[in-house]
Amino acid sequence: MLNDVVVIGGGPAGMMAAGRAGELGAKVALLEKNSSLGRKLLITGKGRSNITRAEFNPKELLKKYGREGDFLLHALSTFGPKETVDFFEKRGLKMKVERGKRIFPETDSSKDVLDILMCYLKDNNVEIKTNSEVKEIISSHGKISKIILSSGKEISAKNYIIATGGKVFPGTGSTGAGYDWAEKLGHTVAKLRPALVPVKIKEDWPQKLQGLSLKNVELTVFQNGKKKDSRFGELLFTHFGLSGPIVLDLSFIVGELLERGEVKLVLDLKPAMDQQSLDKRIQSDFIKYNNKFFKNSLDDLLPQKFIPIIIELSGIDPFKKVNVITKKERRGLAKIFKNLKMTVSSLLGFESAIVTSGGVLLREIDSKTMRSKLIENLFFAGEIINLHGPTGGYNLQICWSSGYLAGQSASKRK
Ligand SMILES: Cc1cc2nc3c(=O)[nH]c(=O)nc-3n(C[C@H](O)[C@H](O)[C@H](O)COP(=O)(O)OP(=O)(O)OC[C@H]3O[C@@H](n4cnc5c(N)ncnc54)[C@H](O)[C@@H]3O)c2cc1C
Repeated sequence: MLNDVVVIGGGPAGMMAAGRAGELGAKVALLEKNSSLGRKLLITGKGRSNITRAEFNPKELLKKYGREGDFLLHALSTFGPKETVDFFEKRGLKMKVERGKRIFPETDSSKDVLDILMCYLKDNNVEIKTNSEVKEIISSHGKISKIILSSGKEISAKNYIIATGGKVFPGTGSTGAGYDWAEKLGHTVAKLRPALVPVKIKEDWPQKLQGLSLKNVELTVFQNGKKKDSRFGELLFTHFGLSGPIVLDLSFIVGELLERGEVKLVLDLKPAMDQQSLDKRIQSDFIKYNNKFFKNSLDDLLPQKFIPIIIELSGIDPFKKVNVITKKERRGLAKIFKNLKMTVSSLLGFESAIVTSGGVLLREIDSKTMRSKLIENLFFAGEIINLHGPTGGYNLQICWSSGYLAGQSASKRK
């Protein structure tokens, strides 16, 4: 018997789409090229899966998806963070809210998230076909007629959902095949770039801080002396430069700006204080450590690892007694705390990014159904569409919402 729906890609979006279509009574096959489903899902949130956010107003949530975030309004209103939490909790996996409104399973295990999705598929009689790599999609007259697997086998269905993900972490199976098919079917694919990706820095000093994580700092992006964007939060120094949530979130704009020219980053270690208050604070520490060498006077203000770097950048002799440091030198020091300048050399590649920016153009997809506007029996779900959010559960939410809607719409299209 002909399948009602064939879903290509067994990631979070594909699993949700297939399960929902099956739940509504459709005969569904889910094709995955790996030997198991959800390989990338297992590594999300460092193995804990930050599945969504405690932001239950779709209109508020949309704002974080950038200029075209409105596209998600219908999907989020149909199946948003509340429905996502209910979905897992109703099936026995309790959720908890952590710092920054991030929602994780109480068990801290992405395997438990995957297990719930596997049960959802089985309960709704979805035929799971692993080791089934789709090689080609054949269409004529604005309609897909069949798909061909690498094995040569051909499969047909009334409707098809492409949920093959993006191009990042290709070792998990997401190698970008869906973009090529979409283009061959007449869709436009917006330029693909690694997003939510660490940043390489030209200067040497950040590398010396490798492994150091700083909370409550501010990072600002500049081009040609003009401020472009900034983030407050947590940053991590690495052997190549910078990573951590605020760096990942800024990486998209950094990538865009790099195509136009040099990009500078400015790190403020004490964003809660203006320069004057910081100078006063340093002054009071200098009074406290009056007789010490300069190199031994910064323990209250900085992590140990950072002290030699700041001393070097300040140009003040580390063996100078604190009580002979001049006002000018002290003010210069406060300025360095708030203006640590770095030059971006490049972004790391697709293999180190969290999501792909770019993808199938949103104006070619009906936001009420996730159906292609060009191919009548084709739907899209997940990272393949030209939309991504910051870190913190936004990207899996795209998968749950678009997957649910695509599965629902495809099951209804006879
Ligand atoms: C390290 C890391 C951590 C992350 N952590 C989080 C987090 O905590 N929270 C969050 O919101 N987001 C997180 N993300 C992002 C999130 O993982 C993705 O947004 C999400 O996995 C995209 O889901 P998807 O179903 O669209 O695609 P994918 O998860 O990429 O799944 C696509 C599937 O399609 C299969 N496939 C591809 N080509 C074919 C083919 N030709 N034939 C058959 N099958 C095929 C692939 O093997 C794969 O299984 C993280 C990403 C990474 C890399």
